[in-house]
Amino acid sequence: MELVQNFIGGQYIASDSKNFIDIYEPATGEIYGQLKDSNANDINLAVSSAKTAFPIWSNLTVKERSVYLNNIADGIETRLDEFAEFESRDTGKPIALARSLDIPRSVINFKFFAEYANNFEFKFYLNSKTSQNYINRFPLGVVACISPWNLPLYLFTWKIAPALISGNTVIAKPSEFTPYTAFILGDVCKEAGLPPGVLNIVNGKGSTCGDLLVKHKEIKAISFTGGTSTGKVIFENSSNSLKKLSLEMGGKNPAIIFDDCDYELMLDNIVRSSFSNQGQICLCSSRLLIENTIYEKFKNDFSLKVSELLIGDPSKDETQFGSIASESHFQKVVSYIELVKKEGGKIILGGQKVELEGRCSNGWFIEPTIVEGLDPLSKVNQEEIFGPVVTLQSFKTEADVIEVANNTDYGLSATIWTDDIEKGERVAKQVDAGVIWINCWLLRDLRTPFGGVKNSGLGREGGDDAIKFFTEQKNVCMPV
Ligand code: NAD
Repeated sequence: MELVQNFIGGQYIASDSKNFIDIYEPATGEIYGQLKDSNANDINLAVSSAKTAFPIWSNLTVKERSVYLNNIADGIETRLDEFAEFESRDTGKPIALARSLDIPRSVINFKFFAEYANNFEFKFYLNSKTSQNYINRFPLGVVACISPWNLPLYLFTWKIAPALISGNTVIAKPSEFTPYTAFILGDVCKEAGLPPGVLNIVNGKGSTCGDLLVKHKEIKAISFTGGTSTGKVIFENSSNSLKKLSLEMGGKNPAIIFDDCDYELMLDNIVRSSFSNQGQICLCSSRLLIENTIYEKFKNDFSLKVSELLIGDPSKDETQFGSIASESHFQKVVSYIELVKKEGGKIILGGQKVELEGRCSNGWFIEPTIVEGLDPLSKVNQEEIFGPVVTLQSFKTEADVIEVANNTDYGLSATIWTDDIEKGERVAKQVDAGVIWINCWLLRDLRTPFGGVKNSGLGREGGDDAIKFFTEQKNVCMPV
């Protein structure tokens, strides 16, 4: 049985917590390890180690810090297959996806910020006839990064890299469901020569370990990615200590499909945007809005393509569609599939638990599911399912589709499919979302601001926004 430990002050440390949490491999339904639910002693130790490391780390130049980030990137890259294997085991995602998306992107996160910050203006001048000013950006101190289970190392490092390059020391908490790649990141940090205490990794439940981080007086900022209800709790619980907050939360993303789009390109991408990672990417399309002229054709072609996805053991190279990430999440997705019938919808594909033979016979697999006939205001069309369930709705006019697209509490991302770019941009302007893709999906330039509007987010990650979030400004003014 594996024991996942905290990484504090440059070494793995056994928590004195008495509370163990089982770690499951969702594809088999079996427990492979445990972690301890970190308590106040663990968090205080992590904070004190991060505080001790702060003066040394923050006094390095960006160039000096970037050497460590590049070393960490290289360390992950060297062990890419190992990381991918563990990521697939923890989440149930196909190993091919972990190998091609999750782990490479974790490498890029470190490399990108190492390079990007070298050209960021941490100091600039602003002079007038009466005053001369310089404005310095400086790190905040000890900051916390809290991440979810769907893209574990990818999102963990997306926060850690900008926090570190800006000169902060970090306490990072992965999801208790998927802690393993964060656990072995400690080894990589050691090998990279990262000074002890610069990055500390603590494990535990959100309501205990996460809550201790959120309320800790010495922690200056929380960068969080996860569900909207959790984000709201963090917002409230951090208010007493007036922390800086970056909240990346849920979505109910529309894909708007016009009849003048490049049909084959759209179809391939919609299959991907709907069902990659079993629909468990915050940016996945979950409401497909299709122009009525091509609705029936799309419905048939899409159902056929989705039915061809190879569902199976995530550890096999050929698998395209793996398991749901946990039993509790499996139950949640099943409950929404049941709700489809109660709300008068029709399941046109999937909707069943997948029964596999052998190693995965007790895993939490659900078929990719396509639904039609639901009211736009039904719960299934309004609430985030975060699983392999998409709904189809047809529309007649641009105005209609914009209204339906915007008719939820969320506003993370949207995709628009049309060959009329003017129309695409016109619609993009009116859709409430922080990220809009026209004729593509998940194409990312890491310099661009990333985040949502409405209940999907507060603040932006990526590029300048991330570095600005993890720094504060000081203006020094003198008379001319
Ligand atoms: P979650 O909110 O349950 O947990 C996310 C993290 O927060 C975990 O590490 C958890 O332990 C911690 N946490 C939970 N309660 C906490 C508390 N009270 N205080 C401090 N920390 C706490 O989310 P999840 O189920 O792990 O992930 C799925 C959600 O994440 C979905 O809603 C999805 O849309 C969202 N998500 C958003 C983005 C984005 O960029 N907007 C990206 C990925 C996932």
